[in-house]
Amino acid sequence: MQVNTNLQQMKGGYLFTEIINRTKAYQTVHPEAHILRLGVGDITRPLPAPIVQAMHQAVEEMGNADTFHGYGLENGYLWLRQTIIENDYTPRGVVLEPEEVFISDGAGSDLGNLSELFDTHNTVAIPEPAYPAYEDTSFMAGRQVEFVPCTKERHFVPELPKNHADIIYLCYPNNPIGTVLTREQLARWVRYAQEHKSIIIYDAAYEAFIQDPKIPHSIYEIEGAKEVAIEVRSFSKTAGFTGVRCGYTIVPKATGLQAMWLRRQCTKYNGTSYISQRGALASYTPEGKAAIRANIAYYHETAQILLRGLRELGYEVFGGVHAPYIWCRVPEGYTSWSFFDYLLENCQVVCTPGAGFGPSGEGYVRFSAFSYRKDCEEALKRIQTLA
Ligand code: PLP
Repeated sequence: MQVNTNLQQMKGGYLFTEIINRTKAYQTVHPEAHILRLGVGDITRPLPAPIVQAMHQAVEEMGNADTFHGYGLENGYLWLRQTIIENDYTPRGVVLEPEEVFISDGAGSDLGNLSELFDTHNTVAIPEPAYPAYEDTSFMAGRQVEFVPCTKERHFVPELPKNHADIIYLCYPNNPIGTVLTREQLARWVRYAQEHKSIIIYDAAYEAFIQDPKIPHSIYEIEGAKEVAIEVRSFSKTAGFTGVRCGYTIVPKATGLQAMWLRRQCTKYNGTSYISQRGALASYTPEGKAAIRANIAYYHETAQILLRGLRELGYEVFGGVHAPYIWCRVPEGYTSWSFFDYLLENCQVVCTPGAGFGPSGEGYVRFSAFSYRKDCEEALKRIQTLA
């Protein structure tokens, strides 16, 4: 047996595991410390009541011989796929067929698994700083990666790759920077993919946070994108599904990949749990939609508290308007990890070091608005005492 050496190319530790380890180590030495967690992007609001009710009912059905559900379709129940199209795409002028929607157990799995559709020799472009999954899965597959820096000097808008890229990962609203792309900026990438016969894997896990009606929610709002893009979405950060697991991926037939992806899923994935899918369906009822709007409004408010507060304290901050993340420049003399340690030790505040998202993330930390209002206010009070 030989191990897959591609896995050894990946960075030492997974970013969020390292943050958890350092936080735990601090808590062990200071058991009395009240640590405020504004680091890892996990939600703090519980599942909305209409979703809980739908899942309870689904559990009841599963416990009754007359209404029990065994394996479902590998690509998900038709009622959920149709509801997704009617609610998330039709109102935006995007025409999709139910066979182009694949229900998943979350965006994370599909972002990794989609890589199996492509030849090992395909080259990859990743604007960075980036959510670590794109780089990790590309390295696991043994692919060449060109990182495209997103810097403040370029208003965090990625340039097109210098070299030909077969596969491109884009994430908007962006994690970690919290920025969005305008229609014109996104259209440049679609044109690039058309010219280069590339595929864009568009991670829209945070689309529900977009506030400006001019900003595209889906890459398919750009003409021609159905031929060159796969879109990945999640119920995690909107409907509170980080611990439930449900998401979906759009693989349009026009990409020529839909049948292959279905074939792959039929062998390797036996479908998302009936209970999760019933919960996801409930997020589209009027009550479910209202609950989700309330969740998003809450996180928008925590983002505003952090954004305003940090700015008042003299920090340079970005993002946080169409996304739950605030990208903050660290003070002179600090690296992103040394500022992480400094905040943990002196304020008991946990953030995420920008360097963990790529070299252009050095000099920044990310604050997550998936927090409690009172914790954000308390964190700002504590940060104010530094100086
Ligand atoms: N994509 C981005 C950009 C994320 O930030 C996350 C989770 O934090 C995911 C995907 C994974 O989402 P899921 O919970 O649906 O696997």
